[in-house]
Amino acid sequence: METKYIFVTGGVVSSLGKGIISASIGKLLQARGYKVTIQKFDPYINIDPGTLNPYEHGECYVTADGFETDLDLGHYERFTGIHTTRNNSITTGRIYKTVIDRERHGDYLGKTIQVVPHITDEIKRRMLRQELNEGFDFIITEVGGTIGDIESAPFMEAIRQLRYQLGRNAVCVHLTYVPYLKAADELKTKPTQHSVKELQGMGIQPDILVLRTEQHLDDAMRMKVASFCNVDLECVVQSEDLPSIYEVPVNMQHQGLDAAIMRKIGIPVGETPAMKPWRNFLDKQRNATREVHIGLVGKYDLQDAYKSIRESLNLASIYNDVKARLHFVNSEEITKQNVAEKLKGLAGIVVCPGFGSRGIEGKIIAAEYTRTNNIPTFGICLGMQMMVIEFARNVLGYTDANSMEFATNTQHPVIDMMEEQKTITEMGGTMRLGAYECELVKGSRAYEAYGEETLIKERHRHRYEFNNQYQEEYEAAGMKCVGINPDANLVEIVEIPEKRWYIGTQFHPEYSSTVLNPHPLFMSFIGECKN
Ligand code: GLN
Repeated sequence: METKYIFVTGGVVSSLGKGIISASIGKLLQARGYKVTIQKFDPYINIDPGTLNPYEHGECYVTADGFETDLDLGHYERFTGIHTTRNNSITTGRIYKTVIDRERHGDYLGKTIQVVPHITDEIKRRMLRQELNEGFDFIITEVGGTIGDIESAPFMEAIRQLRYQLGRNAVCVHLTYVPYLKAADELKTKPTQHSVKELQGMGIQPDILVLRTEQHLDDAMRMKVASFCNVDLECVVQSEDLPSIYEVPVNMQHQGLDAAIMRKIGIPVGETPAMKPWRNFLDKQRNATREVHIGLVGKYDLQDAYKSIRESLNLASIYNDVKARLHFVNSEEITKQNVAEKLKGLAGIVVCPGFGSRGIEGKIIAAEYTRTNNIPTFGICLGMQMMVIEFARNVLGYTDANSMEFATNTQHPVIDMMEEQKTITEMGGTMRLGAYECELVKGSRAYEAYGEETLIKERHRHRYEFNNQYQEEYEAAGMKCVGINPDANLVEIVEIPEKRWYIGTQFHPEYSSTVLNPHPLFMSFIGECKN
C-alpha cells in the first residue's frame, strides 16, 4: 500500500489534547493491522526540547535512539507501543539548521534562501520521510501550536502543498474547542467556525473535525458545524472529557473516526477491530478502586514535568488492581524536621530525576527517611544518585559525599562524570542518551522484577555516573550494584536487598512503559507498595 498521510492541527486554544487524538488515531489504525508511525512538528526555534526547562514544556521524552523530544512522543509510544526515533520530533530550529548548514555548504548554488520554497521544502521532506524507506502504511503528523500562530505558518503551507501533491493519500484532521457558556446554558460553535475559516484561508480544507467539549454535542450541533465548515456529518467527531485519556481511542472508534479517515482516503473500512487487550485494560482500570498513595519527591510542581513517571505509576497500578494516588512532594521544602510529616501516609516514594542543585538535599533526606523506615523507594536517574549519596553519607560515613554535578571540591565524589563527558562544552544533546544494555545480577530484586531476564535495554539521559571506585564499599555495606552496562562497566541499578523495595536506576524506565506492557520495575514497585 502507498503510504497515507494524516495531518493533525489544532485551533482556538492550545492544550486540546492533539497528542492524545493523534495517538488514538495511531492506535485505531494499528488495530486494523496497519503499520503506523506518529511524528510531531513543533514551531519553536530550539533544536530539540532537551534544553527546555520542564516549566516551559513539561517533561523531555527520550527515544530509544537517543533523541530528546516532546512529551507527546510519550503518548504515541504508550498508546501504540511503537518505538519513535529522532525522525519523529522536528522543530523549526532543526528545519532551519538543516537549511542553513546546506546553504553554508554551497548546496543551493547561490540561490536566495527563503521560507518558501526552501524552508517549506525541508518541512515537506521531513513530513514525507520518503528517503527513509520505512514501509509505513500511515504517517500521522501532529503540528504543535494553534492555527493562526505566526510561527506555524510555514508548516501550514507545507501541509497545503502536500495535500495538493498527495491527493487522496492525505487527510487533514483539525481539533477545535466548543466552549460551554454557563450563563446562556449554550455550547458555542463560533470559535470552531473561525478556526476552520483560518485554515481555509491558508488553503487547507479540513476533512475531519474533532471537537473538544465538556458537554455532549447533539446531532443538530454537529450538523451545524458540518454545514458551516464544509465537512461531512460523519466527519464531525466529538471528544468529550473522559475519566481517563486511555478511554479516548475506544470513544473515537465508537464514533467512527478511523472509519471516516479510511473512507476519505478510499480504502475499504472492513470490520471494526475488537481491541480486546485494550478493552481488558480499561476494564481493569474501571475496577481498580483501592487506592495506593505514592509520593513523587521532586522539584517541579507541574503535572507534565514527570509525565512518563506518572503514567508508568498509573499503568502499573491498574495492572496491580489498585488505583494510584500521586502526591507531589516538593523536595525543596523537605527538612530533617518535617520529613516524617511530609511523607506521612505514603505507601512508597519515587525520587525523581532532575538537573541542578535545587532541591537535592530534600531528596537525600527523603531517601534516608524511607531507607531507615523501610518504605518502598524508587530512585530514577538523579533520584538514584541521591540514594547513592545518602548511603555514602549516612552508612559509609563519608559526610561530604556528593555528585561532581553539585560539589566539585568533595573528597568523596560517589557520583562522577565519565571521562568522555569532561571535554564537552555544549549543553544540548551531549549527555549519555538513549537505550543502553544492562546486565542484571541473578537473584537480585531487579532481576526478579524483569522476569529473570539477564540482559535488558533501557533509555538514559544524564551526564554523571556511579563512581566505580566505591563499588566494593557499597556492596560490603549492603547496597548492591545489580545492573551493569556490559560495554562500559557502568553501574545502572543499585538496590538494598534487605529492604522491602529500595532500588535506584541510572536509566529512565518510565520511557518504556506502555498501556499494553507496563514496565516490570514499576509493576514490582507498586506490587510492593500495595502490601
Ligand atoms: N543531573 C544528573 C546527571 O546529569 C541526573 C540527570 C537525570 O536525572 N536525568 O547525571
